[in-house]
Amino acid sequence: MHRACVFDDLIGQQRVADFLGKAAGDGTISHAYLFAGPPGAGKKTAAKSFACALLCDDGGCGACAACYKIKRGLHPDVHMVTPEGAASYMVSQIRELIHDVHLKPVDGSRKIYIVEAADAFNDGSANAFLKTLEEPPDDVTIILLTHSFDAVIPTVASRCQIVRFKRIPPSMAEGIIVERTGVDSAQARAALAAAGGVIARAKELLDSPMRREARDKVLATLKDLATMDGHDVLVAARDLLAAVKAPLEEIKALQAEEIREREEFLGSSVGKAVIDRHKRELTAREREGIAEIFAVTESWLRDCLVMSQGLDDLVSNLDVRDAMEEVAVVITPNAATKALASVKETRRRVSYNVNPQLAMEAMLFDIREVLICPR
Ligand SMILES: [Zn+2]
Repeated sequence: MHRACVFDDLIGQQRVADFLGKAAGDGTISHAYLFAGPPGAGKKTAAKSFACALLCDDGGCGACAACYKIKRGLHPDVHMVTPEGAASYMVSQIRELIHDVHLKPVDGSRKIYIVEAADAFNDGSANAFLKTLEEPPDDVTIILLTHSFDAVIPTVASRCQIVRFKRIPPSMAEGIIVERTGVDSAQARAALAAAGGVIARAKELLDSPMRREARDKVLATLKDLATMDGHDVLVAARDLLAAVKAPLEEIKALQAEEIREREEFLGSSVGKAVIDRHKRELTAREREGIAEIFAVTESWLRDCLVMSQGLDDLVSNLDVRDAMEEVAVVITPNAATKALASVKETRRRVSYNVNPQLAMEAMLFDIREVLICPR
């Protein structure tokens, strides 16, 4: 049977690709799926590929306008859903979602909802969602994603077909990026470290000069941190947050393109739903950018630690090896652990909507203290 080429994007998950390709090919599509597997396993890529297979006239060619829009997050019938609450889905957000689910598709024959963080439903939002999840309109497919199957409320999980993803080993992920983008393995490894191990995000980062610049800025800040005074640290925190905002201009350009296309097609201005989706997209990307600051910082600290133990093979950020060497000769495991704990705590605080500037300042002060007195 012909399997849609769009599943070629899904690497190291042959069983999943075969299963989804067959379902799309036969038309034996479930109303709801739960994709479960560790970060970086390719769940979101798989969900988008599946959407292509369902909406493309060619069964997921990967090259037509529909496939292109889906892959870039611009298709009007493929919706990404992320929690709007600090740590969970809010009932009001789910009510809006349910309303939207019952509207007709715009371009295609079907609508697809990709719901991230399926473990972020609390009892209230789960209850609001259950009936729709169990019996959505015929032309709707809901795909929930989770890193942690066990953290998904059982009443949610039991209404979905479960699709399990394997962990992709880092060496394999690195090889995939080298093969797909043509960068060398050192660059691939550094991009993966910044992207929290997620292949698709690492590839995006390599494609975006502004995101690479943000990553370099984090590393430059860490290099100079020990010699900064208090005022410098405040400025550095502000500059880092500004650096992750810069790539949003790339997204805004894509959104403007979508609005132009749609207005041409509709002959009138686009509605609130599109504007709201664009706003959510920007918020999500900004959060991703902040997550990259944390990931780069963690990888830098881990690199200093492994170098201090003589395990140079494990270094992720080879391009700044010399600068890390200076830290590695003095840092103790205890000090590195303290700094890593501060990053983790800062990540948690930001996820609970603490002002990112304040959180970032506190983190840099903590790390500076460790670098000045690395015992
Ligand atoms: Zn296509």
